[in-house]
Amino acid sequence: MTWDEAFTCDVCGREKRVVNHWWLVRLEAVDCCEDDQPLRSFTLLPWDAGLCRSPEIYHLCGGSCATKALERFMTSGSIAG
Ligand SMILES: [Zn+2]
Repeated sequence: MTWDEAFTCDVCGREKRVVNHWWLVRLEAVDCCEDDQPLRSFTLLPWDAGLCRSPEIYHLCGGSCATKALERFMTSGSIAG
């Protein structure tokens, strides 16, 4: 098998290597009727070779970037800074 796809962390921009502990995050719409609450949920998923190609998936290089992503989501409702 070849590994010819490059993934980069959506928080810090680090490139994915073969050996590491990456995670995926998916933001999903939630039916929330409170005005000041985010309309999406934050779902942390283990790295998956199929899911990671999905366009709505964010790629995170580890726990510290997952924490930053969660903070951004809770502050601004999105992950891309
Ligand atoms: Zn990162």
